[in-house]
Amino acid sequence: MENNLINHNGRIRVFLPMEVEEETIEVDCDLCGEKNRQILFVKEGFPHCRCTNCGLVYVSPRLKRHLELQKSYGTGTMGEERLTSAQMKRLRQTVAEIAPWRQLNRFMDIGPGRGWYLGAVAEAGWETWAVEVNTKALTYLERLGSTHIMAVPAEEFDSPENYFDVIRLSDVIEHLTSPRRVVERIFRSLRPGGLLELSTTNFASLSMIINGSQWMYLNGTDHIILFDPKTINRLLTQAGFQNIQIRTRDFHLKRKLYHPERELPPGSTILRPFRKLLDETLFLTSYGHQLLVKAIKPAA
Ligand SMILES: [Zn+2]
Repeated sequence: MENNLINHNGRIRVFLPMEVEEETIEVDCDLCGEKNRQILFVKEGFPHCRCTNCGLVYVSPRLKRHLELQKSYGTGTMGEERLTSAQMKRLRQTVAEIAPWRQLNRFMDIGPGRGWYLGAVAEAGWETWAVEVNTKALTYLERLGSTHIMAVPAEEFDSPENYFDVIRLSDVIEHLTSPRRVVERIFRSLRPGGLLELSTTNFASLSMIINGSQWMYLNGTDHIILFDPKTINRLLTQAGFQNIQIRTRDFHLKRKLYHPERELPPGSTILRPFRKLLDETLFLTSYGHQLLVKAIKPAA
């Protein structure tokens, strides 16, 4: 099947967000190094595969210029342009939750988007750092004059060992060419006892099971690795993290495509009255569409 998708030059017709022919590369499983994979489905030209060894779901072949596109693409998903006072209040409450880790007073956000969270952390008196490649996001970060910015891909950021109390990787890991390398770097950069806070979409969620390849978070253009509770746990354990807490939340049947210009009519509303109940129930299970993870670097 895979051979039918790729012509002789290793080029493939993909949606970007118009149909174009692009140069691609085949990749092996980032989590365990396995070459063998099973194609689950093809979406917008991109084969979504499952590693036959560890179960990681990833896009292969993927765009050769994936990283280059991350510099200019994907700005539509960076979060709200403005926050309401209620949202600001919630944000400050979330920031207060990392206070117990505060020893060296250093916080780093990898892929901070519009930088709302980073700004709130700076406001709470932390020394703030950011790793960011997206040109637009970098202009947002300029507003936060005090933040130290590393304008390099997450796979390449360099920091002293044992340097940070908390590192955040929020809705970023699904874009990375090598989550394994990034998580290894994070592990090294955290102080013993430091906290990694991570979130990503959950491939094993109820909304994914119901929507299949139409699930709104799937697009091979920039979501190239899809984790679930099992694979994210393996990634963090392999890197040396302990006390790994994985929760999930949220559910919807929206089938909106990732590219806003190709939006489909909204999904079923039959479940709407039960939505709150569902959200709350999913919070207690592993079937919500967002994975929320906390992991600790063990004390030496
Ligand atoms: Zn694997």
